[in-house]
Amino acid sequence: MRLADGHIHVYRGFCVQHNGARGAYKRSVHYHPDVDLDEVRALAALMSWKTAIVNVPFGGAKGGIDCTPSALTPHEVERVTRSFMRKIDKVLGPTRDIPAPDVGTNAQTMAWMMDEYGRHHGHTPAIVTGKPISLEGSFGREAATGRGVVFAFREAAVALGLVPAETRAVVQGYGNVGSWTARILRQLGCTVVGASDAHGAIRADGGLDPDALQAHVAAGGALAEFGAPGAEAIPRDEIVDVPCDVFVPAALGGTIHAGNAGRLDCRLLIEGANSPTTPEADAILADKGVLVIPDVLANAGGVVVSYFEWVQNLQHFRWDEREVNDRLGRIMRRAFHEVRARAEEGGVPLRVAALGIGIERVVEAASTRGYI
Ligand code: NAD
Repeated sequence: MRLADGHIHVYRGFCVQHNGARGAYKRSVHYHPDVDLDEVRALAALMSWKTAIVNVPFGGAKGGIDCTPSALTPHEVERVTRSFMRKIDKVLGPTRDIPAPDVGTNAQTMAWMMDEYGRHHGHTPAIVTGKPISLEGSFGREAATGRGVVFAFREAAVALGLVPAETRAVVQGYGNVGSWTARILRQLGCTVVGASDAHGAIRADGGLDPDALQAHVAAGGALAEFGAPGAEAIPRDEIVDVPCDVFVPAALGGTIHAGNAGRLDCRLLIEGANSPTTPEADAILADKGVLVIPDVLANAGGVVVSYFEWVQNLQHFRWDEREVNDRLGRIMRRAFHEVRARAEEGGVPLRVAALGIGIERVVEAASTRGYI
């Protein structure tokens, strides 16, 4: 693609369909310079298990482009997006394969995707989810992943005897998932004592105002320069040293690893990001007695509300935000309790229980169809 400065750059796009036995492929699309085929394959599989665990009728897929949206003009991001949609057009369709936002993509990206698909096939809002409200997006979709993380927290808090008013939370990554998680935890009465992004981190033992922090970042301010009373800038990777009750990794994969898991001082770790905890870190956290709520359960709120958006689009009907949030809560609670019951029954971690349920449901659908 020719960039605004005259240079030609070749971007690589990846498109993987993992399993469609349970329904149309659901693919979130990730824009990041390090995207590669192995990562996209792994994330496509994760989506198959995730949709099965929360029991929404979708299969798993993933897309990615190795670009850095913040280094491009909006027009360049639009052209990359439209070009990707044209190239994968033959696998897409509202009953075949439905993209959604993820790292580096947002409601605007989804609007371009819907428009590009519509140019060739006619107006089809159900072809992508995570669209702006003005273009048949769903109320509650933008906050849905963070809200789902908080529903998971509420259920786990009861089990651990944690009271929100006495709970200190730390969020690693302050994009869509991290900032909404922090804001909704605060609404629940928790104190957010630390936050980080790709460039830095802050801690405030007396608590931060997550809404004000979000407004500061959205206005172009550096997260670490948020001037709240009692807030102190710390190096980005020292966020794991901030003592808390709940730590929410909500940045990228692999941020909690053998080199830093031992430093975490928390009782509960809720995976807002996909694959944030490496297997070595998982073992370290288990030894320390930290309860880990796995990504396939904890961050499924986004795909659940994507499913609601798709359902609304197919009916050309819109639910209000309360209805969306109530329905999300019911699904997240049910999934949490199914996973917890399986974990207790088998004496296994929540991750093993969740994956067991997800894989079994996919296998059952595949065998009932006669695939295996
Ligand atoms: P985003 O691009 O909106 O935000 C990512 C944030 O992480 C940014 O604040 C970025 O600065 C920060 N970050 C990057 N590297 C970091 C590091 N090393 N340390 C601290 N912060 C760092 O992305 P998002 O949509 O919020 O997604 C975050 C994670 O959640 C990803 O793993 C994504 O796959 C997963 N996820 C997102 C959704 C969704 O609906 N957006 C749904 C399910 C899972």
